[in-house]
Amino acid sequence: EDVERPTGGRRAKAEKERKRKMKPGSFETMGLSQTMLRAIKRKGYQLPTPIQRKTLPLALSGQDVVGMARTGSGKTAAFVIPMLERLKEHSPKAGAQALILAPTRELVIQLHKAVKELARYTDLRLAVLVGGDSMEAQFAELAANPDIILATPGRLMHHLQEVEGMSLQSVQYCVFDEADQLFEMGFAEQLRAILSGMGDARQTLLFSATLPAALAEFARAGLKSPAFVRLDADT
Ligand code: ADP
Ligand code: MG
Repeated sequence: EDVERPTGGRRAKAEKERKRKMKPGSFETMGLSQTMLRAIKRKGYQLPTPIQRKTLPLALSGQDVVGMARTGSGKTAAFVIPMLERLKEHSPKAGAQALILAPTRELVIQLHKAVKELARYTDLRLAVLVGGDSMEAQFAELAANPDIILATPGRLMHHLQEVEGMSLQSVQYCVFDEADQLFEMGFAEQLRAILSGMGDARQTLLFSATLPAALAEFARAGLKSPAFVRLDADT
């Protein structure tokens, strides 16, 4: 029986855990699903980072968001958690439900790892479309009807041109990550083509370290009255 009875140390730990969960702004106070909370806990996240605390309630309510915060501030989970809560499960309908764009192959591969971990208790299917991998392998991923496409703009456009019947009309959640880099790397034209290929009934989020004029203009064209979330370098 003594294994079942909490020791003083276990009771103190349980109390600490209860206090953490009740803390204003904790993941537990955000109305997230049990599945999502489990995945966040499994990832080892105790409390949201400042950008997550500000962005999550807005994005979870369905708002478009422009988020600015330094590297390493936790922007990925700020857009992945609302995406997973919105999609919930695999859709047998044709076409992806979500699209995440990033400027480089390495960044997309990092994002894929993060999404896979946070989606571990769902049946959502992911596809990675980046340069350097064979088109054939990516055709096979697309044939499995992925819910979430993670891509660089160049390779995504290539697929849109090559794959008969491929469309972005089904996308209801779209993220432009490292958007300033996307522009600096000369993807502006592809990004505009991608925007025009998506339906209007979608939520769009854009994350960037800076917001130069061309990017602000792009945000005006692609996002619906977005909320601006900005964290200064030292917060
Ligand atoms: P950014 O995109 O802003 O550069 P990332 O989303 O890549 O930052 O996150 C940076 C690191 O912080 C990653 O290792 C990530 O797993 C970790 N991280 C994110 N959110 C939390 C959190 N709430 N608690 C602890 N670590 C976190
Ligand atoms: Mg990032």
